[in-house]
Amino acid sequence: MAKKFVRAIFPGSFDPITNGHLDVVTRGMKLFDELVIAVGRSPIKNQLFTPEERVEMIAELIKGMPGVSVESFEGLTVEYAARKKADVILRGLRSLTDVQYEFQLAMTNRAVAGIETIFIMTSEQYGFTSSTLIREIASLGGDLSNLLPKTVHERLKQRLKKDGFTAQGSQSSIRSVSEDAILNT
Ligand code: ADP
Repeated sequence: MAKKFVRAIFPGSFDPITNGHLDVVTRGMKLFDELVIAVGRSPIKNQLFTPEERVEMIAELIKGMPGVSVESFEGLTVEYAARKKADVILRGLRSLTDVQYEFQLAMTNRAVAGIETIFIMTSEQYGFTSSTLIREIASLGGDLSNLLPKTVHERLKQRLKKDGFTAQGSQSSIRSVSEDAILNT
């Protein structure tokens, strides 16, 4: 029997993309024939980088990764998945807190659109890496070289220098609202 072609989307904010996200991508690309990293244009979240900047940074990092692409999208993740004719949604898991949230999200997406979600567990060294934490550490001048790709680290430093982004500003982007379960993630 011929092997089925499997297309996955990996939706998220990626503000900015971290080594943890990239770890999920490099392991995901071994499982799927095509993997589309989908940067959500959420109207709800307070964002550090524009969707265009996030796509640009990711595009640079995935050069040479076969079957992997990146684009941004607006609106419901499940509608985007249907437009892309995706077979599955890929998400990453770091902790039990993630499991609770992601479980709800996956159940909702399956209930409304019949699409399955596949999870990849983070490598131990990235278990505590989140874009939110990174924005906070960066705003306080902490060293992020182990957690971010070099190019992203450089852009983040430039952005902080230019805008003086504060820890308080980044607080507002912490995931707390259930709208995220429906919109753009
Ligand atoms: P969202 O706002 O949709 O959670 P994120 O960019 O924060 O967007 O995360 C996108 C996906 O990547 C989520 O499934 C998240 O759990 C996963 N993820 C984030 N950081 C890591 C990490 N360090 N290791 C594994 N998965 C991660």
